[in-house]
Amino acid sequence: MESPVTDISPAQAPLLNLIGHDRQALEAYFASMGEKAFRATQVLKWVHQQGVYDFSAMTNLSKSLRTSLTSQAAFVVPEIINDQISEDGTRKWLLRLEDGNSIETVFIPESGRGTLCVSSQVGCALNCSFCATARQGFNRNLTAAEIIGQLRLANQLLVSTDNKRPVTNVVMMGMGEPLLNYNNVIQAMTLMQEDFAYGLSKRRVTLSTSGLLPEMQSLSKDCPVSLAVSLHAPDDELRNKLVPINRRYPVLKLMQACRDYTKGLPHQKVT
Ligand code: SF4
Repeated sequence: MESPVTDISPAQAPLLNLIGHDRQALEAYFASMGEKAFRATQVLKWVHQQGVYDFSAMTNLSKSLRTSLTSQAAFVVPEIINDQISEDGTRKWLLRLEDGNSIETVFIPESGRGTLCVSSQVGCALNCSFCATARQGFNRNLTAAEIIGQLRLANQLLVSTDNKRPVTNVVMMGMGEPLLNYNNVIQAMTLMQEDFAYGLSKRRVTLSTSGLLPEMQSLSKDCPVSLAVSLHAPDDELRNKLVPINRRYPVLKLMQACRDYTKGLPHQKVT
């Protein structure tokens, strides 16, 4: 026989993950709580620059605000399942997301800089013939929180000897085609460039694409970071086989789109 239910508590609303909120989104969140916009920059600095996720330790917020935030929001980053360091210092993390899916993030240290290769999707739909991710098929887009969470985690885990941030460059070149997850990738790249978060310049954030022409055009207006195009072949005959999206956006049109991308962006480059 089932025991009688004696204590019925109201179901707790899940905490809102704020880690992927850029300044604009955080300002809107604080405005909805009746708070001033500057709270957004205070919280951005705590989380993305100091690595403090616990609202109760954010001493420049009022006590009542800290209590309210603790009851309704949190900062959640992916969980590390595997952490592998190669002899050359390259570090590869396998990360588990909240729904159980996993993604990879790779840090490549070089003289004078450190590059983080960030994933944008679980799997990929574009089916390039040489690509291991393509064999998984497409599962889902990452949220902005899951994308920026990879950079936050890397900054947390990499020890800097000279007090500088270890990640100096980000390439959106991990799992997935970033331009097929346009809005979330833009939001995360905005946070990467935000002065109160990571402060990376446009030249230090690179988006790597297989060549989606309409989205490349939009990117040049919305968030003109550096662009890397994965060509893999000099002509349509071979590229159609290696990178099937080439059938829709052939090489000549892609070359023109690359030239167009840098028009009006003299300091920007396409590689
Ligand atoms: S676009 Fe990138 S991730 Fe997707 S199948 Fe091609 S190479 Fe792989």
